[in-house]
Amino acid sequence: MKAMRLREFGAPLVWEAVPEPRPGPRQALVQSKANGLCATDLKIVDGLVPTVRTPLLLGHESAGVVVEVGSDVETVRPGDRVVMVCKQTCGACRMCRAGHEAMCLHSPGRLGFEIDGGFGELVAVSDRNLVKVGPHVSMEAASLIGGTLGSPLHAIRMARVEVGETAVVFGVGGLGLHALQILRHLGASVIGVDVKEEKLEKARELGALHTVHALREDPVKAVLDLTNGVGADVALEIVGGAAVPPVIQQGLDLLRPGGRLVILGYHYGQVVPVDPAKLVYKWLQIIASHNHSVRDVADAASLVNDGRVQAVVAATAPMREANEALARLRAGDPVGRIVLQW
Ligand SMILES: [Zn+2]
Ligand SMILES: [Zn+2]
Repeated sequence: MKAMRLREFGAPLVWEAVPEPRPGPRQALVQSKANGLCATDLKIVDGLVPTVRTPLLLGHESAGVVVEVGSDVETVRPGDRVVMVCKQTCGACRMCRAGHEAMCLHSPGRLGFEIDGGFGELVAVSDRNLVKVGPHVSMEAASLIGGTLGSPLHAIRMARVEVGETAVVFGVGGLGLHALQILRHLGASVIGVDVKEEKLEKARELGALHTVHALREDPVKAVLDLTNGVGADVALEIVGGAAVPPVIQQGLDLLRPGGRLVILGYHYGQVVPVDPAKLVYKWLQIIASHNHSVRDVADAASLVNDGRVQAVVAATAPMREANEALARLRAGDPVGRIVLQW
């Protein structure tokens, strides 16, 4: 089969023929159709993710069509349109049984990280890690249901957001634009913070009550002004990169007493000094969220199936142009996700 393969870190991906994967008894063979690109793909290509080895087929936000199933598979059939949940799970460990598959203790790996993902024409995926989508959901939209929607959905669940609360979303990029739609759907008021006007514009279009341009306005003062000096109930850090430490400080400063800060974005090796007195005297909670469980993806799929949340595709490109698409992601910030198509 054809694939765009990472042969060595820091080098362009190579378009080449690779062996087809064969599905195990509890696996389905999925024809890859669409793959969302995220900043983590850049970390993988740069060799920053310690568990990744080359050669590798990237693609951890993928959707496709089942073409074959193993002998013991009962939940999906050839022809089903599916989201591939990136973390392959054992289904039996303590974390899996508690519904926290993102933290599976015996995972064979994640698609596009430790095992081959959607940058190949065919992917072998455990039947536990497939979520079906309706016929009217495009494959491009479906590719965003896992990482781009499931991950913020998981974070919002961890923050226990309630109707009527005010949530600040730092970074209204790929994940942030979807986080804000989920928050709106739950009945929260959303304040979007970013440094790119076109993203803030999109955030307002998708229902943000207010937006703050962080280079023109102090987000802490802006949020305190907007909440009559009380502060926000919840803040989500989804910026990643060098902005993470200052955004964590701002997030803590703009919360009301008892508020929750959720950290999703990161860069390896960053150290953030936090004054414990600030946390103690304000009863603040810091929550970290990584990845998503199968339930998050299933619920995200139902939000998209029913049209309650819109998958924001910034641009599409053929798989063969993956290097150009990765360069575009590295150079700027697309409004929503860039999706590679097979
Ligand atoms: Zn991702
Ligand atoms: Zn497990």
